[in-house]
Amino acid sequence: MAEENNVAEVAAGNFIEDFINEDIAEGGMYEGKTVHTRFPPEPNGYLHIGHAKAICIDFGMAEKFGGKCNLRMDDTNPTKEDVEYIDAIEEDIKWLGFDWEDRFYFASEYFEQMYEYAVELIKKGLAYVCELTPEQVRENRGDLTTPAKSPYRDRPIEESLDLFERMKNGEFEEGRMTLRAKIDLASGNFNMRDPVIYRINRIPHHRTGEKWCIYPMYDFAHPIEDAIEGITHSLCTLEFEAHRPLYDWVIDNITSPCKPRQIEFSRLGINNTVMSKRKLRQLVEDGYVNGWDDPRMPTLCGLRRRGYTPASIRNFCERIGVSKTNSTVEYSFLEHCLREDLNENAKRVMCVLNPIKLVITNYPEDKTETFDVENNPQKAEDGMRTITFSRECYIEAEDFIEEKIKGYNRFYPGNEVRLKSAYVVKCTGCKKDENGKVVEVYAEYDPETRGGDTPDGRKVRGTVHWVDAKNYIDAEVRLYENLFTDPEPDVGDKNFLDYINPKSLTVLENCKIEKTVEGAEYPTFYQFMRMGYFCLDKDSTPDKFIFNRSVSLKDGYKKK
Ligand code: ATP
Ligand code: MG
Repeated sequence: MAEENNVAEVAAGNFIEDFINEDIAEGGMYEGKTVHTRFPPEPNGYLHIGHAKAICIDFGMAEKFGGKCNLRMDDTNPTKEDVEYIDAIEEDIKWLGFDWEDRFYFASEYFEQMYEYAVELIKKGLAYVCELTPEQVRENRGDLTTPAKSPYRDRPIEESLDLFERMKNGEFEEGRMTLRAKIDLASGNFNMRDPVIYRINRIPHHRTGEKWCIYPMYDFAHPIEDAIEGITHSLCTLEFEAHRPLYDWVIDNITSPCKPRQIEFSRLGINNTVMSKRKLRQLVEDGYVNGWDDPRMPTLCGLRRRGYTPASIRNFCERIGVSKTNSTVEYSFLEHCLREDLNENAKRVMCVLNPIKLVITNYPEDKTETFDVENNPQKAEDGMRTITFSRECYIEAEDFIEEKIKGYNRFYPGNEVRLKSAYVVKCTGCKKDENGKVVEVYAEYDPETRGGDTPDGRKVRGTVHWVDAKNYIDAEVRLYENLFTDPEPDVGDKNFLDYINPKSLTVLENCKIEKTVEGAEYPTFYQFMRMGYFCLDKDSTPDKFIFNRSVSLKDGYKKK
């Protein structure tokens, strides 16, 4: 199932581009036309990172060829649609940076035309009303060596026309009849063995209400939607490859205003997560996560809340490439793309996640010094900020140990450590409570090392971040791990819910962040020095800062 991404294929360029170029070179029906694509989500859930790939391809191809891309809600199935999803879909696509301009359509707007096309097929002897139950259709579908059986396929055209109209008028109950295309009962492609193209369904539709009680099947509806909108290239995922002959058959047999070409590309999978909307919905509805925008979700709203930038996601989609081989991409690659963006663009600040107090015993009690430090060493134009330093500060509890271990260069009695951008200090000991827990660490500073440099050039190996204990803001910090412990939680007969990672969320309540973040609003991206990249969460208030860790720093930089 999960095969390696075919790097050679990706490097050679995009085969979709090649196909479109071929079509343009051939002229014919593409003569004088601009490339026109569409992104057709079914509004039954929020968009996820897999959709982002499709969006980047659909809008990206149009952009590349100076063409257009429509946004179309594929709402031909009345059971599941919800306006909440439609708004969210629009928001997510805009956030990614794509624009459908005024071309926003609903497939349900075409029900009348679809009905007329179905009537056209009946009149041409290419469709008929069938009275087999779904079970009977299945039982009669035949196998590779036996053709299907369909007892109603030769019924008179007039009879089918009459019954189809009565189906539309609501004279029959659900499941009683279907309309089937008359194609080839012996076809090696089972999609061509007289597929059902219309069924009765009495669920009201969110846009057309109770006007219709018959609904077109996807394989019939989709090519018509494309044709009506003048789509030249209908880009979709690989599972539709075996449906392409039916797509072409529909276009060839109706009076189509144009002849769109379907091109399939591989679906994106990412390990340690699930991507199907049904499963994502289950995670939300059963309370495994806190909503569709939970920062652990692979949804675009979840990634956004986690601190992903549109640029990082577009870059990711670009770099995974487009191929015909289904592939699973490492989650760490998505993280890599984010890290690259934030490394360039995030403001650096210091935040202590698990604080312990450091007292600098030879520093005057009531003195406060200031240091001007760069907001982002990668970008001088981001300017400077001023941080304060006084006798007491917070450091990470894990930056102190009582006894030296080989390779550990931070605080232990007798060791010199650099407080980032401030001073070199020498650890002198600690205080413990009655349970033996370290509650304070002591050090003496070297006044000659202001800024962190040693005038005599002596080596100081460890540098730690810190926050002035007189001048900080309390913050809650949420750390995330993979939502699933298994790399492929829903492959084969595994139940993905069995692999939920109980440690996927850690909430740290007592973090101390430098005061310079005061007034920050979402989206502001930070690097908390040594701790990773963080983004203000939407639950944050001016009185209570809440940050999500978007991604950690490179592993090599972290302590074991
Ligand atoms: P799901 O199985 O998650 O419900 P879907 O394919 O039913 O997905 P749609 O809303 O119908 O979701 O998808 C809209 C478009 O996005 C389609 O063209 C589909 O091919 C594409 N798409 C969906 N999932 C992926 C994915 N994982 N990788 C690439 N494209 C995808
Ligand atoms: Mg779908």
